This record gives sequence, C-alpha cells and structure tokens, in this order.
Amino acid sequence: MPVYDWIADALQQRESQHLLRSLGVRSGLQGRTIILNGKPLLNFGSNDYLGLAGDERLSRAAQECLPQVGWGTGASPLIQGRTTLHAELERQLAEFEACQSALTFSSGFAANLGAVACLVDKQDAVFSDALNHASLIDGCRLSGAAIHIYQHGDMTHLRSLLQRETAVRRRLIVTDSLFSMDGDFAPLAELEVIAREWNAMLLVDEAHATGVWGASGRGAVEHLQVVDELLIRVGTLSKALGSLGGFVVGSHSLVQWCANQARSYVFSTAAPAAACATAITALGIVRDEPQRRTNLQRQSEDLRKRLQAMGLSTGNSASQIMPIILGDAMQTLHVAQQLEMRGLFVPAIRPPSVPVGASRLRISLTAAHRDDDIAHLVDSLREILK
Ligand SMILES: *Cc1c(COP(=O)(O)O)cnc(C)c1O
Repeated sequence: MPVYDWIADALQQRESQHLLRSLGVRSGLQGRTIILNGKPLLNFGSNDYLGLAGDERLSRAAQECLPQVGWGTGASPLIQGRTTLHAELERQLAEFEACQSALTFSSGFAANLGAVACLVDKQDAVFSDALNHASLIDGCRLSGAAIHIYQHGDMTHLRSLLQRETAVRRRLIVTDSLFSMDGDFAPLAELEVIAREWNAMLLVDEAHATGVWGASGRGAVEHLQVVDELLIRVGTLSKALGSLGGFVVGSHSLVQWCANQARSYVFSTAAPAAACATAITALGIVRDEPQRRTNLQRQSEDLRKRLQAMGLSTGNSASQIMPIILGDAMQTLHVAQQLEMRGLFVPAIRPPSVPVGASRLRISLTAAHRDDDIAHLVDSLREILK
C-alpha cells in the first residue's frame, strides 16, 4: 500500500546512518553469560545489577505461589486485580524505602508516566533534567504542564528557569537519581535545597539505584544521604530486583492520589501476583546479602580506574554503569562487533538514545561478574582500541 511507503523509506534512511536497530533473541537465563542469537557471550549489557533475574530463589517463589494465585490477574487493580501479594509487596516496599506507603505499577515506565502526569497539569510547570529517562519525559508531556528542561545536572540553570516561571500554581522538579546512559548521580542534596527554596515538589526516579546504592540498598537518595521527607520516589522492580513492575513511594495521601488519578495505574491490568512474589523474595535478598551491592561497587570502581588508565573516557560515571564514549556511531558499532567476536556482549548506544556525536559503549557491571571477566573485558578493549 503506497500510503505506508514512507515507513520503508524512513527505515532505509536509518540504515544508511547506521542507526537501524534489529531485534535479537536471547535464550536461556539472564545472567553473567547469555546466549544471544544462538551465541554464548559474557554479558555486560543487562540492568540485572544484583544478578537476581536468573536466581533460582526468584523462580521458585513464582512457582510456589502459582497453584494458589494462577497467572493472570484479569482486572485493573481498582476493580479487583490487586491481590494479597500486591498488598504484601507494597507493605514491604514502604518498609524497605522507609516511607508511609507504596503503590506498584505494571512497569517502571508506567509508574513514571502515571505519577508525573497526575501531579501537575496545565496550570503548573515541570523542570526536567536534559538527560531524564523517556518515561519521565513522556510523563511531563502528557501532564500538559509547561516544560522547562535544564542542562544536565546544572543547578544554576535550574535556578534561573525557576526564577522565570513565577505565575504558576505548582512546580515539579523531576530527575533520574542515577542516569542510565552516563552512570552519574544527580546532585540530589542540592535539588532538595532548591525544591525547598521554591516550594517545588521533587520526584526522583531511582530505577538504576534501587537495591544497588545506599547502606540498606534504598538507592541514591540514601547513598547521598539526602533528607527525603520532601521527595516523591519512583523505582522499578525490573532491574536490580530481577522481577517486573514499578513503584511509587511516599506519603499515604500521595499513594492514594496516584491510585485514584494515575491513568497508567487505573486503566491497566494488575501485574501477575507471581511477579509480586518474586519481588518480595528479591527485597529479602537485598536485605540479607549486602555483599552483592558492596562487591559490585568495588568492582565498578576498579574497572573505571582501569579504563581511565587506558586513556578512555568514561564521562562522569560514578557507578556500575560505565559509558566508553567514542563519539562516532559507526566506530562504536564496529568496536561492539569486535568485542562480540571475542565473546563479549557490550551494547553500542547510538542516537536517538544519546545525542549525535556521543555514541558509546555502555558497560553495565553486575554482582554476577567475576574479577577475571572484568580482566577479559579490559584486555579485549586494549587489543581492539590500540
Ligand atoms: C528502565 C527505566 C525505567 C522503566 O522501568 P521499567 O520497569 O523497565 O519499565 C524508568 N526510569 C529509568 C531511569 C529507567 O532506566
């Protein structure tokens, strides 16, 4: 049909710019090694930071509850899809996060989209870090509020934008706590001070930090020791916790408001109860096995030093997420292919995920990696990039 010809043309154009993505297939478990398109590879491309996605204890938790709860939930949470396991997970999440209350969504994306869009509307303004995750950006757009984007981590710029926007009803500042493509932390302590000064709400997305950072694994807010009574925190169960779903934590009234008003909550079927059972098990592991996060932090520090010693740019990374910024999309892809030929999976991140000219390899370390895996990665990069 000619009316759809533009799609093939647009794809062709992507391909000529080396920006076309293709869908791969993974078989077997998520973990330290994966089988990708039939090929076994050492895996530096997951968000499974604590190595729990393939952990037996999580799959056993799902198996054990399935005879009682079944798979599907058959309704949105408000109708009758919210099960005792959802309620128990929310109770444990509130406790883990040291908050009054928690609400679980079917994904982290849905949690951000729903939460941001129900906190502000046309009469309000949002202030959003330039490198925020797509789900926060879409939440801002959906809300109808005036959108002000401040340069990444730039508090002077944020202050000047707040100064210009005086006639609004409510202000909301939104930020990732740990940025997914750069591995750096938001200046949360300063953001908290600014939010107080301007009487603004502050929503922090802990997707990459939950379970990994902070003395008890609560995330970057805990790691950076930020006073959190003002904050609205969003997180995911799908990354370090190895399960599926997202959550909002905060006061009773905030949670009640989201449950009433967040459209991605109200108009979407509740996640399988078995997914809640796996998340509950993962929260227990985060509590009982702190060595997972402390080892990961140590290994990340070690790898970053070795990459920098080779003269490679890891940007402002301060975490388990380490970009190697190469710039050119084609060169980045080429290096990723060379690594794959040596049995290593490191994703090449290209526009539109990052700005043009900022293509990079994105290394993510997990608690499942061994010291010799990291040595193998460093040696391979040295050979390829020499
Ligand atoms: C992955 C991610 C999300 C979405 O979480 P899912 O549970 O995968 O939908 C939200 N925010 C950030 C910063 C993320 O990296």
